[in-house]
Amino acid sequence: METKRIMIEDRKNIKDEELAEAAAVLKGGGLVAFPTETVYGLGGNALDEDAARKIYAAKGRPSDNPLIAHISCAAELAPLVREIPEAGRKLMEAFWPGPLTMIFPKSSKVPYGTTGGLDTVAVRMPDDPVASRLIALAGVPVAAPSANTSGRPSPTTADHVWQDMNGRIDMIIDGGPVGIGVESTIVDVSSPVPSVLRPGAITMEMLREVLGEVAVDPAILGPVKEDVKPKAPGMKYRHYAPKAELTLVETTGPVGRMVEKVKELAHEKLVQGCQVGIICTDESRSCYAEGTVRSIGARESQESVAHNLYAVLREFDDLKVEYIFSESFSEDHLGQAIMNRLSKAAGYKIVQV
Ligand code: AMP
Ligand code: MG
Repeated sequence: METKRIMIEDRKNIKDEELAEAAAVLKGGGLVAFPTETVYGLGGNALDEDAARKIYAAKGRPSDNPLIAHISCAAELAPLVREIPEAGRKLMEAFWPGPLTMIFPKSSKVPYGTTGGLDTVAVRMPDDPVASRLIALAGVPVAAPSANTSGRPSPTTADHVWQDMNGRIDMIIDGGPVGIGVESTIVDVSSPVPSVLRPGAITMEMLREVLGEVAVDPAILGPVKEDVKPKAPGMKYRHYAPKAELTLVETTGPVGRMVEKVKELAHEKLVQGCQVGIICTDESRSCYAEGTVRSIGARESQESVAHNLYAVLREFDDLKVEYIFSESFSEDHLGQAIMNRLSKAAGYKIVQV
């Protein structure tokens, strides 16, 4: 299959003609990758089981890992769900459009092929102008998991999508690099106490301000045990995995102690002749004199770290390093999402100093 790539000229002034062909592809059951404010999504008609099957095939994703349906306005939610619980209403009001996905009891309109066989459906209203306009023009809810090969870091540029999806999907819309860089926060509002299934840019602090009590699914805090069925089925897979073996170094003490440990671990592998990558920050960059060193952003700007996270992991894949040692981050605010993704990428290989 030939994958057509189109470029959005001006994101602030999108013309419907630019997206008409992509919308027609979605309506006709085909696949289109497009930018959202979180990461690039791989879109197909969420009401069409065949389109869902194509998404799973293109990504190599296990079909019990459900898809998120994306909508362009609040009115498009009602047909997809059996009810909108009070917590869901409050969160829609506060955070839609935006990087928040909610789990609702699904209506009969949504096929099990989209929800991985579950009686619930995940829905999000993205804030990105390209995503929003495309969904509106397609006239259907759009299932859109991250547009990467399953198990690879999520794509934050159209080039990342091209690397993974060229020849496997109908079209890629290049709308430039995404803003946030990590996937949406997922909150299950179908249970009595809303619970966070995946941390993202709508942080725990922001959710608590609107809802009061919010639970945290254990799957976001650490590895999922073999015999436990996580609420978000995707949590059981080793997502976001770089090709190299990634180790995180954590400390409750000063940052300098962490930096010294990263240097020491990297040095041990370097003297054995291994290719070693180091993930540091703008602030600590000058402390490292050996290895392939990349800054993931400024420690004082969590936004910058989230924004660069997947691009740095992908770059290390391209550079074919064998081991990566990374500094870690505080887990407040956006830091919870950052540490969730890094810990998963590391397969929870974490060294404490
Ligand atoms: P991705 O599409 O790669 O951003 O991943 C979507 C995430 O949403 C996966 O971790 C899924 O397990 C989760 N998800 C989607 N639908 C549901 C649902 N109905 N219930 C729980 N989790 C869901
Ligand atoms: Mg994904």
